[in-house]
Amino acid sequence: MPLEQLPLVALQARKAFQTGRSKPIDFRVQQLKNLQRFITEKQKDITDALKKDLHKSENGTLLYELLGLEGEINMAIANLSVWMAPRPVAKNLLTISDEVYIQPEPLGVVLIIGAWNYPITVTLQPLVGAIAAGNAVVVKPSEVSCHTAKVLELLPLYLDPEMYPVVTGGVPETQELLKQRFDHIFYTGNSMVGKLVMEAAARHLTPVTLELGGKNPCYIDKDCDLEIACRRITWGKYINCGQTCISPDYILCEPSIQDKVVEEIRKSIKEFYTDDPKTFIDYGRIINQRHFKRIIALFEGSTVAIGGENDESQCYIAPTVLRDVTPESKVMQEEIFGPVLPIVPIKGVNEAIQFINEREKPLALYVFSSSNKVIKQMISETSSGALLANDCLIHYTISDLPFGGVGNSGMGCYHGKSTFDQLSHLRSCLIKRLGMEQLNGMRYPPHTAEKLRL
Ligand code: NAD
Repeated sequence: MPLEQLPLVALQARKAFQTGRSKPIDFRVQQLKNLQRFITEKQKDITDALKKDLHKSENGTLLYELLGLEGEINMAIANLSVWMAPRPVAKNLLTISDEVYIQPEPLGVVLIIGAWNYPITVTLQPLVGAIAAGNAVVVKPSEVSCHTAKVLELLPLYLDPEMYPVVTGGVPETQELLKQRFDHIFYTGNSMVGKLVMEAAARHLTPVTLELGGKNPCYIDKDCDLEIACRRITWGKYINCGQTCISPDYILCEPSIQDKVVEEIRKSIKEFYTDDPKTFIDYGRIINQRHFKRIIALFEGSTVAIGGENDESQCYIAPTVLRDVTPESKVMQEEIFGPVLPIVPIKGVNEAIQFINEREKPLALYVFSSSNKVIKQMISETSSGALLANDCLIHYTISDLPFGGVGNSGMGCYHGKSTFDQLSHLRSCLIKRLGMEQLNGMRYPPHTAEKLRL
């Protein structure tokens, strides 16, 4: 779409919103059902596209992209009447006989900017909540996962095309959209661009949700079943070839358990991806050569304990573990977002906590320990978008847990009702009757002592 048409797209969405047709519950439910129909009917196109973009297997796509999304659609349809309903609140003495409640109302036109790593989920999951909340939405899929973007272009064939236009294209298109006025911007991607989005939003005083990334620490306590811990960490790290915003970025553990950690991860890599991940159906690829080169450059100066093999022609990097990594090494300076797992030796939980607190607040923090005391200490002495003990990633699947970052890993949250609330204005309403005026006497001047004694 030519750049000069983009202001019109935003305007058309606003006009569609102003008709008021997105407000009734029936319309919202119908659009959500249409979205479900898009997923069902285009499932083959979606799985083919993700195979091309990221070498995701068909079953992998079902499990990690579609199942959760369908769950969110069903949840929104089932709960919408309750979410939309007025929410009564406690009253005080002055308002005891009034009607006092919160009325969720649509914000208006929402811009959703998606990322490429789970390009269906991170684009359509916010859309579920945006539709449920009664908004118009301009959807901007990531251009980096270009095959999936092509499939997402078909969305207006299923949804109200004026209310929910899709804009494909790259950075110039996103930048042009960001010049337009929206009522909310929901961005998923890296923190650097997140700042640009917020800057652009500030020009219109538009609120933002920023779903960002960063380095997610994973502390392994020596008092822990290392076989199980490493199996779960291996899963969380190498799924989608490490290109998961909540994948464990690096391990912190005591030097005495490092050898065992390496060996257990080696066993799990073999169990999940065979001796030859390169030819294995369920092992992904790096999205493009730019990211491939970036990740390979991160190896510099570190000792490879497992993997390290790579093939630029296929954007393949083997599941890799780096050992005895120092905090100053290159791989510890940025989010890895690839299948490389550094182990940074530290002296124990107190040093791990200090290490974590000296850095940006992560999106997810993982702690593996059989000691509840250690887990609770990690919770009370650190901060992160989410904390998981003894597992990775699965908090993402619980719709009732608000998903989002804190500090550098983002602001705002979503999933389930949280998306609905995030993309609604929670309007305070108070309805007083015109009678019973004597009850109001004490607040009118003059403020005499007699009135206060009442
Ligand atoms: P990306 O390159 O696809 O960019 C995302 C969007 O931003 C695209 O639509 C793109 O057009 C736009 N964009 C890129 N550069 C821009 C610029 N200069 N100006 C305006 N718009 C621009 O995605 P990415 O940033 O590489 O995604 C990976 C990052 O996203 C990682 O940091 C990851 O942790 C994070 N992420 C976070 C979540 C989450 O839920 N918190 C989920 C997925 C990914």
